[in-house]
Amino acid sequence: MNQSTRRYDTLAAAKSWNSNQNGSSSKPTMHVTEIFGENTLTLDELKARMPKAAWKALEKTIVSGEQLDLDGADAVAIAMKDWATEKGASHYTHWFQPLTGSTAEKHDSFITPNQGGGAISEFSGKDLIQGEPDASSFPSGGLRATFEARGYTAWDPTSPAFIIENQNGSYLCIPTAFASWKGEALDHKTPVLRSMDALNKQAKRALKLFGVETNRVISTIGCEQEYFLIDQEFYYRRPDLMTSGRTLVGAKPPRGQELEDHYFGSISDRVLSFMLEVERELYRLGIPVKTRHNEVAPSQYEIAPIYENCNVAADHQQQTMITLKRVAKKYGMECILHEKPFDGLNGSGKHTNWSMATDFGMNLLEPGDNPHDNMQFLFFFAAVLKALFKHQDLYRASIATAANDHRLGANEAPPAIISAYIGEQLEDVVNQLLNGGLKKSMKGGLLGLGTPVLPELPKHAGDRNRTSPFAFTGNKFEFRAVGSSQSVSFPVVVLNTTVTEAIDELCDKLEPALKKQSMNDALAALLRDTFKEINPIIFNGDGYSEEWQVEAAKRGLLNLKTTPEALPKITDKKNIKLFDKYKVLNEREVHSRLEILAEQYTKTITIEVDTTESIAKTMVYPAAVRYLKQLADTAEEVKDLGLDASGAIDMLKTVNDALNRLSDALAKLKKVQEKSHNESVLKHAKYMQENVIPAMNAVRDAVDFLERYVADDLWPLPVYREMLFVK
Ligand code: ADP
Ligand code: MG
Repeated sequence: MNQSTRRYDTLAAAKSWNSNQNGSSSKPTMHVTEIFGENTLTLDELKARMPKAAWKALEKTIVSGEQLDLDGADAVAIAMKDWATEKGASHYTHWFQPLTGSTAEKHDSFITPNQGGGAISEFSGKDLIQGEPDASSFPSGGLRATFEARGYTAWDPTSPAFIIENQNGSYLCIPTAFASWKGEALDHKTPVLRSMDALNKQAKRALKLFGVETNRVISTIGCEQEYFLIDQEFYYRRPDLMTSGRTLVGAKPPRGQELEDHYFGSISDRVLSFMLEVERELYRLGIPVKTRHNEVAPSQYEIAPIYENCNVAADHQQQTMITLKRVAKKYGMECILHEKPFDGLNGSGKHTNWSMATDFGMNLLEPGDNPHDNMQFLFFFAAVLKALFKHQDLYRASIATAANDHRLGANEAPPAIISAYIGEQLEDVVNQLLNGGLKKSMKGGLLGLGTPVLPELPKHAGDRNRTSPFAFTGNKFEFRAVGSSQSVSFPVVVLNTTVTEAIDELCDKLEPALKKQSMNDALAALLRDTFKEINPIIFNGDGYSEEWQVEAAKRGLLNLKTTPEALPKITDKKNIKLFDKYKVLNEREVHSRLEILAEQYTKTITIEVDTTESIAKTMVYPAAVRYLKQLADTAEEVKDLGLDASGAIDMLKTVNDALNRLSDALAKLKKVQEKSHNESVLKHAKYMQENVIPAMNAVRDAVDFLERYVADDLWPLPVYREMLFVK
């Protein structure tokens, strides 16, 4: 079979997908309130199933983080096992988040053989609290010498257990942390929990100054997940999508997204069926998804939940990514979470909305409607900006991946320069504070300077500036530079920890001042000093513009364009001190993260290079050669007929030149790869970025050129217009 027939068959198969094909036995209607949380073990359900005393002990663990003893754990284990087996689960797994950024499971059966040769169902408190996955295959960044390869998992009682179903059975997933035997974090969850504790302490301290007593302050997040859907027929004919999650070659479609009114357009039947099933599955897992819509690029979509406590939300975010991928296959599609699957088209992000709230539901970033609440708001608002200003490097590093490098600064996503958009009203407020007085233009003035209330802040006005990596959007900050495929945990850890420090430092100044001054005066002075210091981080203009690059440099802001530039900042002295002071990560843990992130970067690029090479050599080169032969034969025959063959010869030259360029580019790519790397993993990453990526891009250029010239019926790969416009 020649290429054309195969590729056109693929296209036909993709087009012929129909709604009867999917395996779903879903009912046409969805009763959300009936199914919400049915596959998750809520605290209410657990309480109902536990002896009173045991429940009280567990409650203490959940609320104040006290250790649960083994008896207590046994009681939980029994309740949990009963619930899970009633739901048809045969196995359980400690579900954890290794530093690869995805999730890991090792399943164990509830069944244990007994002496009589039968089997009994067993699951003890010990099994619940602690597990020992064979951890040697997970990255530890030097934290775990091989002789102590077995890390352990520890139950996180603050995130509910849940059930994963399959048509042939189901199993119980128990959210856990993952650590080395020395107690060092090998995962993403542990530092999230530690940073929540740190934030809680400092935020409560600050609230006390404002006369607010609360048991606990948590940070809340809501993540807007962007993704692409591609028909599987195409996916499996694209080795690059399969190995790297993005197209490594491929010419831009003639009809770009500029001409597509895809955004907020109607959603195709097949995609809608998919979305409805995803939502039903997420509801059943107790994940409060709220919005769905088309995104900017063709075949791009978004799903967003209602915000939750950041630990639970981060777990739910992982479950959402898994569910999107799993359900897409049932509809003959592949869900692509990569930050930049298609060159020249909008990439995907995961806007991470972040705020802080008390246990009675007071949002600390909600501007109030009385002077007292507004002072409190301005305090926390300033703390976040102070954190961002001081630790731009960490915010940048927390989103640094090979994949996100394609997106940041690509004039469609936030630039790599970290700054904050705060909207005009708040900028006005900040300016007034800086000028130390009030303007008549503002109704009445400000705070202790005379004003009863802040101007009414439009909740959504802030969202319209899409060019900022970090935007205040009415009652929360939106960290927009976060990548679509990454775990949100590290960005959240950075947010929680840096804001903890900022609150701590502000309190250190405010507390003594309050002994001498009124709150109004002390706070006005503190805010004035603070905003003066951090003013360069505020930028309401166009983040995509050339001028901003220049202006940001003048302001002394960092512009860490690539991952190898951003990552080393993680281990800067100030950052090691920060994480250590708030007991979020010790020095070794910080170093291990750098090591793993740098290693992931080089691994990603290595896979991309290998795949690009193989596609170019084994798919594109042969197609081009065949076409060249056809052209040469044709030119010959035309000439034999005594006719002018210049058309065929022109084309022959063009294709031949491109083929030579491809050969050269492949030879250069091979050469840059030959260098062996026994220096540090960071140096290796830098080498990849400076030498290997450009060489790989040169191969792509030649391939993409050929795609525009080689006969369509010889071209071996599904092309952009096929993949993106067949839904
Ligand atoms: P927009 O679409 O304009 O960005 P939305 O109100 O739809 O704004 O919110 C987007 C995301 O922000 C949602 O996931 C939402 O739950 C989340 N969000 C709203 N308020 C908060 C908050 N206080 N803390 C964290 N996330 C929040
Ligand atoms: Mg948003």
